[in-house]
Amino acid sequence: MTDVCVVGGGPAGLAAALALRREGANVTVVDCAQRATDKACGEGMMPDSAQALGALGVHLPAAAGFQFQGIRFADGQSSVYARFPTGFGMGVRRTTLQRILAEHAEAAGVRTIWGAKGVQLHHEGISIAGSSLPAGFVIGADGQNSAIRRQAGLERTRMERRRYAFRRHYRVAPWSDYVELFWGPRCQAYVTPVGKDEVCLVVISRKSKLRPDEAMGDFAELRQRLRGAVVTSTEMGAISLSLKLRRVYRNRVALVGDAAGSVDVVTGQGMCLAFKQAKAVASALRADNLEQYQAEHERISARPHAMAALMLMLERHQGLQRRALASLASHASVFESLLSIHVGSSSFLDLFSWRLLPFGLKFLAA
Ligand SMILES: Cc1cc2nc3c(=O)[nH]c(=O)nc-3n(C[C@H](O)[C@H](O)[C@H](O)COP(=O)(O)OP(=O)(O)OC[C@H]3O[C@@H](n4cnc5c(N)ncnc54)[C@H](O)[C@@H]3O)c2cc1C
Repeated sequence: MTDVCVVGGGPAGLAAALALRREGANVTVVDCAQRATDKACGEGMMPDSAQALGALGVHLPAAAGFQFQGIRFADGQSSVYARFPTGFGMGVRRTTLQRILAEHAEAAGVRTIWGAKGVQLHHEGISIAGSSLPAGFVIGADGQNSAIRRQAGLERTRMERRRYAFRRHYRVAPWSDYVELFWGPRCQAYVTPVGKDEVCLVVISRKSKLRPDEAMGDFAELRQRLRGAVVTSTEMGAISLSLKLRRVYRNRVALVGDAAGSVDVVTGQGMCLAFKQAKAVASALRADNLEQYQAEHERISARPHAMAALMLMLERHQGLQRRALASLASHASVFESLLSIHVGSSSFLDLFSWRLLPFGLKFLAA
């Protein structure tokens, strides 16, 4: 018997387990994969993500990855940078992050069961290949295609949009301490430095067959940077899903992370959402008030969904995209404000100032 059984030992599940342990719960994490399994991810943790993880007692050592100072957008004609208003982001290999989270969870007394096939929701908790594991509460942290979500009857959505993503690593010293997002006519590519001699590349598009080699044709600068660099990982594909659920809990089941909805990968906010939801669900369970989690989940997701909508609008309209980048390049302070909103350091209201006027005029004239 366990107080809470968390199905899924990815970033969301392990973070939820840690948050629940801090509330004094007895927790078991069950995952069908082995410990520290790799997964397609851009591997960039924004400063708010690192902060949310810190609130769970996990502080990533600098040696775990590569610290980055901000974000750069480029489209072949224009380029604009902004630094984070405070702190720094961290590029960290997915396998490293998984290992560190699992170590923290296990050290905190979380019981972990890896390689558990045939996990099903059960009226007394869960079952694994037919054997019951009684639990007072179940958390579904089993990712984008969550079986727990389906079995709990939480599939009803408010919105769903798909794109296709491919991830690859290259052995090359990062040429910048920014995450760089390249905007092209058919797709976007972003590069996260993840080590002193490694970068992670993600290509995202609406075409399921557009792979990195072909996509590179759209990005002369990136092609030049990566020329001759050895590919160090197996290419992995994934769906980039923007998904909003109507409900994130029902009876004795709640969802966290991608199982509870997700934002397009271009935002780099997936892990931040997962870590914040982990804390929120643990507080709501302690208060025995899951409606509190529902409300907090909606609040936490609102800003990343709004930023994703803005970025996807630019992605869909080439003309708008070109104008926006050209205007931001000559008004970098507006880009700084947008980045500050993105990482939760300021609100959309802070954007509306006199600075918008010259930006707007440039945008109209571009
Ligand atoms: C291409 C790509 C790039 C991204 N880039 C970034 C980025 O730069 N920054 C960022 O913050 N976010 C990024 N994201 C989003 C981020 O990867 C996800 O939001 C994050 O992985 C969600 O974590 P999770 O634990 O909810 O799900 P997952 O990471 O998918 O973990 C789910 C876990 O559940 C387990 N599981 C699944 N089914 C079962 C089952 N039936 N029984 C038991 N266990 C099960 C899986 O084995 C897995 O361990 C990216 C995503 C993609 C696809």
